[in-house]
Amino acid sequence: MLSVLKKDSRQLKKYRMLVNQVNALEQVMQSLSDDELKHKTIEFKERLNNGEKIEDIQVEAFAVVREAADRVLGMRHFDVQLIGGFVLAEGNIAEMPTGEGKTLVASLPSYLRALEGKGVHVITVNEYLARRDKEQIGKIHEFLGLNVGLNLPIMDPGAKKIAYQADITYGVGTEFGFDFLRDNMVYDSSQRVQRPYHYAIIDEVDSVLIDEAKTPLIIANKTDVHADLSYLCSRIVKTFKLDEDFLFDEETKTVSLTEEGIAKIEKGFGIDNLYEIEHQTLYHYVIQALRARVMFTRDVDYIVKDGKVLLIDMFTGRAMEGRSLSNGLHQAIEAKEGLELTEENKTQASITIQNYFRQYPILSGMTGTAKTEENEFRELYNMSVVQIPTNKPVIRKDLSDRIYMTIEDKYKAVTKEVKKAHAKGQPVLVGTTSILQSEKVAEYLKKEGLEFELLNAKSVEQEVRLISLAGQKGQITVATNMAGRGTDIKLGDGVAELGGLYVIGTEKHESRRIDNQLKGRSGRQGDPGKTQFFISLEDDMFRRFAREELEKLLKHVDADDTGLVTHKKAKDFVERTQRICEGSNFSIREYQLKLDNVINTQRNTVYSLRNKVLDESNMLPIQFSLISKAAEDVIRDLCNPELDSDEWRVKDLEEKLSIIFPVHKFELTEEMDSIDEIHELTNKAIEHYFGELDKLQDKSEFQTISKRMLIAYIDHHWLDHIDAMEKLKEGIGLRGYSQEDPIRQYEREGLELFQYMYYNLEMDIARETASIYKKLTAPTV
Ligand code: ADP
Ligand code: MG
Repeated sequence: MLSVLKKDSRQLKKYRMLVNQVNALEQVMQSLSDDELKHKTIEFKERLNNGEKIEDIQVEAFAVVREAADRVLGMRHFDVQLIGGFVLAEGNIAEMPTGEGKTLVASLPSYLRALEGKGVHVITVNEYLARRDKEQIGKIHEFLGLNVGLNLPIMDPGAKKIAYQADITYGVGTEFGFDFLRDNMVYDSSQRVQRPYHYAIIDEVDSVLIDEAKTPLIIANKTDVHADLSYLCSRIVKTFKLDEDFLFDEETKTVSLTEEGIAKIEKGFGIDNLYEIEHQTLYHYVIQALRARVMFTRDVDYIVKDGKVLLIDMFTGRAMEGRSLSNGLHQAIEAKEGLELTEENKTQASITIQNYFRQYPILSGMTGTAKTEENEFRELYNMSVVQIPTNKPVIRKDLSDRIYMTIEDKYKAVTKEVKKAHAKGQPVLVGTTSILQSEKVAEYLKKEGLEFELLNAKSVEQEVRLISLAGQKGQITVATNMAGRGTDIKLGDGVAELGGLYVIGTEKHESRRIDNQLKGRSGRQGDPGKTQFFISLEDDMFRRFAREELEKLLKHVDADDTGLVTHKKAKDFVERTQRICEGSNFSIREYQLKLDNVINTQRNTVYSLRNKVLDESNMLPIQFSLISKAAEDVIRDLCNPELDSDEWRVKDLEEKLSIIFPVHKFELTEEMDSIDEIHELTNKAIEHYFGELDKLQDKSEFQTISKRMLIAYIDHHWLDHIDAMEKLKEGIGLRGYSQEDPIRQYEREGLELFQYMYYNLEMDIARETASIYKKLTAPTV
């Protein structure tokens, strides 16, 4: 512990020195005219061009931004904000509590890194904040001669391109990810909107890179679903019993069928073996129906509104309009609810948020809560977390948890506590972990005749407005933990005297980090405040992650007449269980990442080939390499040098090679027994063929047709491959009975599928190139 502290203070010392240097420049900057200050931008760019490094100019650049902010916004960066800026500039995470002014902190490194002329992306958690931050901070940057852009989903490609050309671009992470995917689906390089990645600052970085990390961004188009099959499967699995017909692993969230379950399906559908390849579709529907049943609870994970299933964001508790689950899972939930089925989406392109952001050479982030996940940030993103001292000391009181026997006891105590605080006018924010829970709390408060704001399923704007009012005298606000993240709660008049904002948590989240987020709502910028969690031993988390330990504990502890348990054992148990949860969730994320890495590498390979096709004017070298590879593969396949040459299929090879090389007459004889000889022939053929193709080159028609053909085949094979990979992944967890490590198995089979896809792609390109060649050389009549 001590050594950690020492290391932290040593680290801070380095930043303090830099801050002193910035402070020393203050008078010089103040003496400059507006124009002279602005001219600094040009000067810095020149210095970078002349070989100076970011580190050489960062102190001066920060001093310039601070002076500009003071002139334009009347806000002068606090010293601790400069520290935050240095941490971001070097690609790390600045942990700064709510209210410390992270928006202004970002103005420093975004300016500095923008000087390199390669674009800076500032990522916020919602559009409202992107707009707000761009408006405010943009004024500083524009004053200094940079241009600032905003990237929004409603914009057309032309407008997006302008936004991305700007020195600094604001927007929501998902939209940047979607632009990446769309850029890899264009048919002409001029249609791309993004530039190569350079540097990004992610606000509320834990929410983006941890909570949302594995969220896939999917571009899909519609395909039909088997509606009947969906309803049938839904009906059958409704009769299934857990542990008898199917298994469900709560921790890894996987479902699988038992022998009994399989038998029931086979009987129900009159088939012999569910695992036969021809029943793959049925199997898929059964599994999705099971998932819909056990993993999705109405009013917790989704709501039904106007005959539609709306998913609920587990962090904000907001219904997510327009978001749907892929792979038929959405339809399975609709079938479960007896709703009309929407069309199913077939994936055209997808990437997880995590893998999108891992593409940036320099990535940085800021948040109030990162330290608890420090290892994860280091391991997965190579970012360190630096805790920045607060501008003013935090005087908020975080009271220790109150643990109750039952949920009922807990809510009663919460209600009593809210009533007490409200009676003296102190504002209270009650945080919950789900909509369902928010409504429970609301019921109790209503019974007591208390008036409150309930922040369920509100729009971002409403949420922001209501949350920002939560610090007013007499206000009671009930919201899920993450609602209105990024919005400041300012205290109303006379509220500081009443002790500031009182935050009450009603359940421990699976991560301490989210609890800390809730606590951080109170006591900003040296304000007074108080936080307390009210929990019960009946809460979900304990049952799910520590059932046995809980039972043991219950034998040892007892409660007073309000149900309060004060035993130290109970406190330890709560803390330990939360750690177990964190560990387990981390493992799941790690596992997912490993799975995702497989398709990620493949995507990189295919996208870089695709981009090459779009970017280059001469297709010949690309065709050359694909076609040579096709020839090699065919030879290896049909005349495996490890086999006896008697077993070679020389005639088949001759046929295949003649397709690949239309200008060459191959004469292979069954007697051929030297692989070198065959290679010699094909090498000659390749040379000859490409000599001929080269002669065509002045015919721009060949290039145009080839380019179109290449893109079409790449897309076609890639889309099929994504589908195959999704199905493979689906099967992985379910075939848990095999001896092999599931990740290894997925990697191995994923690679096989990829090689197979690539081989087909090469062969198609070879065949098509031959046919283009023939068409162009055919004697015109
Ligand atoms: P955070 O994102 O860290 O929670 P915000 O960026 O929302 O904080 O800022 C909180 C408030 O503090 C805002 O009203 C902002 O204008 C104000 N603020 C930030 N930095 C300064 C500063 N240096 N001087 C004055 N006000 C500031
Ligand atoms: Mg903020």
